[in-house]
Amino acid sequence: TGLQQKSVSYQTLLCKHIVRIFYLSSVRLRLTVLCPSQILCLYDSLDAINVDKVVEYVKGLQQEDGSFAGDKWGEIDTRFSFCAVATLALLGKMDTINVDKAVEFVLSCMNFDGGFGCRPGSESHAGQIYCCTGFLSLTGQLHQLNADLLGWWLCERQLPSGGLNGRPEKLPDVCYSWWVLASLKIIGRIHWIDKAKLQRFILACQDEETGGFADRPGDMVDPFHTLFGVAGLSLLGDEAIKPVNPVLCMPEDVLQRVGLQPDLLS
Ligand SMILES: [Zn+2]
Repeated sequence: TGLQQKSVSYQTLLCKHIVRIFYLSSVRLRLTVLCPSQILCLYDSLDAINVDKVVEYVKGLQQEDGSFAGDKWGEIDTRFSFCAVATLALLGKMDTINVDKAVEFVLSCMNFDGGFGCRPGSESHAGQIYCCTGFLSLTGQLHQLNADLLGWWLCERQLPSGGLNGRPEKLPDVCYSWWVLASLKIIGRIHWIDKAKLQRFILACQDEETGGFADRPGDMVDPFHTLFGVAGLSLLGDEAIKPVNPVLCMPEDVLQRVGLQPDLLS
């Protein structure tokens, strides 16, 4: 129990720290609201924040066309639509925004290739596709996608090395193992890529001395690519890693605890 107490007080400390960051920081919707909500859910400590204030903040960023600004300076991007609904889903407050309008905006960013960009007419990009498929999952609108067309575009991201890139003509990168793979999982097309080859690419990005992962084999490791490398391996079915949810990038057991099961296409 000594160890247990230690870990509980560490969690309390961490939560207080996160809340402090949340209040002091004036950065972006994705950083200030979604990440703390995810971490507080992980530690079962949502009561450490003023949920109503968070909801009010997110709600205040929704624009007339349904889009979301990332902050008070007003940049519009589908990433912020995802962060907004993911935050509200974790807090159980989805009904506080105009969901129909939000869906309308995200669908207006869908391109002829089945993908999504950051605003209407913007080029398809795997990061935005992850945000938009995740958004449509959380809002129960996955049927609005052309899953075969989008699945084809996503599979074309796999390169001879087995790694995935985020757009045509770009280098492979471990973080795209997440953006692309999670999107494929959400739309029920993960079996369309060569899983064994991708697994080999991700493992080749791991630094054997520190255990961390880099964007590409031989590069410097960092926490960002380590998270997405490990999460990607989980999606590929590695049994040494806990199952991860493709929409929220959180352990499935945590989402079961909070009663959140985002839709996936089969
Ligand atoms: Zn990367």
